Amino acid sequence: MMSNGSPKALIVGASRGLGLALVAEYLSRGWDVVGTVRGNGRTGLHDLKDKVGAALEIETVDIVQQDQVAALRKRLSGQVFDLLFVNAGVANDPDETIGDVSTEEFIRLMVTNTLSPMRVIETFGDLVTPAGTIGVMSSGLGSVADNEHGGWEIYRGSKAALNTLMRSYAARHRKDGRSLLIIAPGWVRTDMGGPHAALDIKESIPRVVDVITAQSGKPGLRYLNYQGQTVRW
Ligand code: NAP
Repeated sequence: MMSNGSPKALIVGASRGLGLALVAEYLSRGWDVVGTVRGNGRTGLHDLKDKVGAALEIETVDIVQQDQVAALRKRLSGQVFDLLFVNAGVANDPDETIGDVSTEEFIRLMVTNTLSPMRVIETFGDLVTPAGTIGVMSSGLGSVADNEHGGWEIYRGSKAALNTLMRSYAARHRKDGRSLLIIAPGWVRTDMGGPHAALDIKESIPRVVDVITAQSGKPGLRYLNYQGQTVRW
């Protein structure tokens, strides 16, 4: 079942990079989108809003701030979404090992990439239609099985933990009809991915949306890359 009229997505962490591209891609496919930014500054999402008008609503939330998550949930009461997608995430120095990292930096990554996306899903999940989709942006680096070369230790740990918590969420919602997706978008040229990444945003995000669309209406949890291939846990 879809919401009435155009399908609607809530995309969290959409000021720039992959999140902004996801919003643009869904709008281009006729969806209505609520996209979130943090803070009051002007972002790429505001430039997009100037072009597309009413199909895009901009909301504000820093996912680390529990009071802001609760306040957004209140503001969105009564809305129904076909897709909730949590894109927000941060990286750290890829060479920093678990032996080097400060406790503060470790907490920053785990709270931003692991606890906060799950908290958003816990808080907003009930706004998603019974056959809708809940997705998170993870990473191929979140695969425990594929970690044969090391590097990115803290970031990997945060995304692997995110994947595990999605499995726990899926186990708890076993009877649910929603499609649950963990997405690995590929290594993409964004502020986070850097200029030497393998893929342009246009080579990743339209395919990510194709993958999400292909899984629509299929209950259960899958960990998929931007080409629709299963990533090893
Ligand atoms: P990016 O360019 O650094 O953008 C990160 C996005 O997350 C920004 O919109 C940022 O908002 C938002 N964000 C960060 N912390 C937040 C918070 N506490 N609350 C709300 N929003 C927050 O990174 P990206 O490359 O687009 O990455 C997007 C997602 O894809 C991340 O989860 C990342 O781990 C994942 N990923 C990226 C790659 C890659 O190669 N690029 C590969 C695998 C996975 P602000 O503008 O306010 O900072």
